[in-house]
Amino acid sequence: MAERGVVPYEHAMDLAMIGTGYVGLVAAACFADSGNEVICVDVDQQKIADLKLGKLPIYEPGLEDLVARNTRAGRLSFTTSVEAAVQASEVIFFAVGTPQDDDGGADLAHIISEARTFGKEMNGPKIIVNKSTVPVGTAVLVEREIRALTSHPVEVISNPEFLKEGAAIEDFLRPDRVVVGVASESAGRVMTELYSPFMRTNNRMLVMDVPSAEMTKYAGNAMLAARISLMNEISQLCDHYGADVDQVRRGVGSDARIGSSFLFPGIGYGGSCLAKDVQALIHMGHTKQVDMGLSEAVEQVNHRQKRVLAEKVVEHFGEDLGKHVFAVWGLAFKPRTDDTREAPALSLVQELVRRGAGVRAFDPVANESFKARFGEHPRVTYCENNYQALEGADGLIVCTEWNDFRRPNFQRMKTLLKSPTIFDGRNIFSREEMSKLEMTYFSIGRPPIRSR
Ligand code: NAD
Repeated sequence: MAERGVVPYEHAMDLAMIGTGYVGLVAAACFADSGNEVICVDVDQQKIADLKLGKLPIYEPGLEDLVARNTRAGRLSFTTSVEAAVQASEVIFFAVGTPQDDDGGADLAHIISEARTFGKEMNGPKIIVNKSTVPVGTAVLVEREIRALTSHPVEVISNPEFLKEGAAIEDFLRPDRVVVGVASESAGRVMTELYSPFMRTNNRMLVMDVPSAEMTKYAGNAMLAARISLMNEISQLCDHYGADVDQVRRGVGSDARIGSSFLFPGIGYGGSCLAKDVQALIHMGHTKQVDMGLSEAVEQVNHRQKRVLAEKVVEHFGEDLGKHVFAVWGLAFKPRTDDTREAPALSLVQELVRRGAGVRAFDPVANESFKARFGEHPRVTYCENNYQALEGADGLIVCTEWNDFRRPNFQRMKTLLKSPTIFDGRNIFSREEMSKLEMTYFSIGRPPIRSR
């Protein structure tokens, strides 16, 4: 690896975090908590104004305390000025969103425009770190943009993020691995030093070349998406052959070569990453004329799976749902987050209202975020708790497996529901219990229970 004059630091570093969403805010707070000074930048003025007042724009367990503590200590600050942040920092992280453009590829407009600002504001040697998920080749592109505007030494490296919303702080502080793609040994040393507080028990730094690091993020998400889609496809077969996908899952997951994580069937993956990243991977393949049949199938299965629960509702209640009202528990794409991007509940609620049904929706933290994404609808009512959602409903539909939903008061539920019918998109209830309670119960890949 070539040395390019970027000196390793043996002290707390001055960092900038461009983009203060789920990834940027968590990473900034965790880096600040280990002694670094971190300036957070966002284009969203309201977000920065709120953060300055200690108000978090997102829900992530533990984040509010971490941000408050480090802001009080003067290690975490917030601004809308990229210029000031770049000038004050040695290492600058990109954690801006990378949405899809029209043809499925990642839209790099934000990143390229920021790169030009960096180029103009460079006042010394800097390392620019891509933490956003970006197509292979982006670091080279960004470095070219910056170098065209400055003579100061700069290296653009890749440090894809693997945190999971809902457990983001734990993932960041105790990562399975930290992947860093660099072109020089000195940049590798800087990143190793920066992450060393999180590696005390075991060094899990994987320093590699830049394209491999960029590819690792997409390959990881495609692998996870593939496991989910394969289990979802198998759950559909189970539905038709009378098998119980939960038992199949245990049987399959106990094979040490396969392992038990990410084998839960459900109503399709959502969130800001899996769908977008699989599509970006497909797009990367097409750009180079590589057949991406498997990744395409993973996406198709996911689209189909998002319709499964509505199909079960229609099978039971009929095509026209105009006279029916449904309680929907869980609007976030998964538990412990308020993130509703690509949430399966969006397609489900859309289909219910398209068929004329009323919806009484509840999520422990995502009501507002869902309303903002789905929009106001005269037949969708947002409820204050899960029992209120059941009042007068013809059935309950579970979309997110929040712990709060796992042990409800079933007798109370039966008195609130017009008919004791549950469509469980996450298999959170036991079939035996549903049968004892004389519920009519539909789940994913498990035989239904029909009460008398
Ligand atoms: P997000 O949408 O929550 O946050 C992005 C932030 O960037 C927003 O606050 C937005 O206002 C800001 N922003 C956009 N353009 C900007 C600009 N030019 N300058 C400054 N700020 C700007 O996104 P996120 O979920 O934090 O994801 C960020 C990146 O990390 C994406 O590439 C994503 O794929 C990746 N990622 C996300 C997760 C996750 O679980 N959310 C996990 C791993 C990786």
